[in-house]
Amino acid sequence: MKKQFDRRFSSFVEMGVTAWENRDNLGYAMKLLTDGVCDGCALGTSGVKDWTIPGIHLCWIRLNLLRLNTMPGLNFAELPAIADLQRLNEKELRSLGRIAEPMIREPGATHLRRLTWDEALHRISQKIRAVGVDRTGFYLVSRGTVNETYYATQKAVRFLGSNDIDNSARICHAPSTVALKQMIGHGATTFSYQDLLKSDLLVFVGSNAANNQPVLMKYLHVAKKNGAKIATINPYREPGMEKYWVPSVPESALLGTVIADASFEVRVGGDAAFMNGVLKYLIERGSVDQDFIQKAEGWEDLKASLATQSWEYLETSAGCSRDHMKRFAELYEKTKSAIFVWSMGVTMHKEGVDNVRSVVNLALARGNIGKPGAGLMPIRGHSGVQGGGEMGATPNALPGGIGLNAANRERFERLWGFPPPEKPGRFIVEMIDAAARGELDVLYCIGSNLFGVLPDPYYVRSALENLSLRVHHDIVLNPQMFVPSREAVIILPATTRYEMPGGNTETSTERRVIFNPELGAHRIPNARDEWRVLIEVAERVKPEGADKIQFDTTAAIREEIAKAVPFYEGIQKLQNKGDQFQWGGPMLCEDGKFATADGKAHFVPVTPRENRVPEGWFQLTNRRGKQFNSMAFRDLEPLASARRHEVILSEVDMKALQLKAGDLVKVKSAIGELEAAVKPGRVRPQTVIAHWPESNILIQRGQLDPECGIPAFRDELVQVLPLRPALTNAKSL
Ligand code: SF4
Repeated sequence: MKKQFDRRFSSFVEMGVTAWENRDNLGYAMKLLTDGVCDGCALGTSGVKDWTIPGIHLCWIRLNLLRLNTMPGLNFAELPAIADLQRLNEKELRSLGRIAEPMIREPGATHLRRLTWDEALHRISQKIRAVGVDRTGFYLVSRGTVNETYYATQKAVRFLGSNDIDNSARICHAPSTVALKQMIGHGATTFSYQDLLKSDLLVFVGSNAANNQPVLMKYLHVAKKNGAKIATINPYREPGMEKYWVPSVPESALLGTVIADASFEVRVGGDAAFMNGVLKYLIERGSVDQDFIQKAEGWEDLKASLATQSWEYLETSAGCSRDHMKRFAELYEKTKSAIFVWSMGVTMHKEGVDNVRSVVNLALARGNIGKPGAGLMPIRGHSGVQGGGEMGATPNALPGGIGLNAANRERFERLWGFPPPEKPGRFIVEMIDAAARGELDVLYCIGSNLFGVLPDPYYVRSALENLSLRVHHDIVLNPQMFVPSREAVIILPATTRYEMPGGNTETSTERRVIFNPELGAHRIPNARDEWRVLIEVAERVKPEGADKIQFDTTAAIREEIAKAVPFYEGIQKLQNKGDQFQWGGPMLCEDGKFATADGKAHFVPVTPRENRVPEGWFQLTNRRGKQFNSMAFRDLEPLASARRHEVILSEVDMKALQLKAGDLVKVKSAIGELEAAVKPGRVRPQTVIAHWPESNILIQRGQLDPECGIPAFRDELVQVLPLRPALTNAKSL
């Protein structure tokens, strides 16, 4: 009864909680909701409207993020000693209030010390000058970060002579960008959300939109009314993807909407084998689109590769029978249009790029691209993920996502008046490794909590400690800021996207560039825009020629983006609430035209990995709870009825281990241990699901996809050891 209440009515409870949390600034909170662009996931809004269906567009993520934007500055005089701040968790630190002024922590100090902006910028720039830009790294979070910030900061870093700038999209969708660019020429969703409402079949692979992009569930409710079938492919039957209560649709709010018509449980890391098995079957039955295939490249190589992959191999790797794959193939072949949506379950692997390729192969094989109701959607979790890569805040690509080759660098030299450096920069995990080895002295972070989000946090912590200087420009405190460093940690107060003079833009998952107006009724007096501060640092480090990186306004940045990134033509015209455009138009790859070098779509052979789990071992995967990024809002995630200290196991495994719900276990990997209570769920046997980022302590560092550098968050083998003394079967594990 309680579970049912939580699932149906938690959104309404959130509204009450939000109103209470923001009661000291309710007028401004309402203004953010009605006039701002949501700083949560990348579905995209203007106020509480979108461009897909009529009605209110609002969810619990946005409501929970509201307080970050409305709360007052923290009171420096009341800040506890550093030792006490170190004991606070992320949520407790956040609740202290907005960072209100520059602060510094120096070795031996018991308390943070206030700095003026001039002192802070002097100290940062002197240090970078002293150690050299080669020993300095720059990193941006994608939570809420806007296109203007990405563009201006990457330009400043390149002016300094470095490509060592990365952003947190690296640890979610880098595999999607690499695979999509190779196969269709665009690293983005190919259709508009409107197409979800027209499709025959929507396939969600390794994705839990119910929890991470809640308003998408409203679109799915409408899609189902229009006759769409929905299939999920996942090791865990996410309860929210089985049935969902859309709060703004009365019949759904009361009775729920059945979402998945068919669910396919695969092994963790088994997606590529599953996709290949389905494709093999479609080829056997002649259920592929010959017209499309003939105009594309690589089909014969893909077919030959599939012929060498036995059903037995694919079954083992996918963790399901060929009948299971055939059942999906039969569902798929009946459809005229299908959309494939994927997320972290596909990408966060050592073979993340290949996993994405296998999904794209399957979509292209039946010509599901460039036509209504069909296409590819790497669904983005943060409002800044799509723009991060497109604005060039990456170590290996310039704005527009183009490579660092001579022709591209020359083009930017003509635009900027200085050449971008030739040597590729370091991905964030490489910067951390460089810090651990003593090869990096300064790390300048705009947002982020690296200590919280990367694998092996104890290693990350020691690397952060090994830096001489760290700079954290952010809106609230987080645990990363209280990791000491050799000389100083400088904390700077940032404006929110709503306070930034001149407004700004974000790019949504459907490639919609949306103008977010300045809503400046609330200010932290001493907070400054991240892009302005980094430009000032760059100017102090290298005064000669610094006029080339100056922007007076965000409008000036948009003017330049339009010149730097041709497909962003139109961004310079955005200036009022509701202004927007979709780069590439509503549909990419129409009429068989692809943005690859030869203008064709490319199939790419994928060999799935061997994917055996030894007897007595488990594959560890993770999911998000009631949280956004690494910020946890509530202990209970009502859809799965899971608490953060719980891990989910199959009933088969629980029985074998003589466990009942609530029993304590130790989840043990090669590098760490996590104590948790067990909870039964519809998950594949030999799988354990923990919460992210808590489970990062179990994940080994250095396991990266070689093509894009994403850490393998979901490839760890672990043991599950019951902690009750009466149980002794742990010995066999
Ligand atoms: S679904 Fe995403 S964009 Fe829409 S309100 Fe929620 S967090 Fe914001």
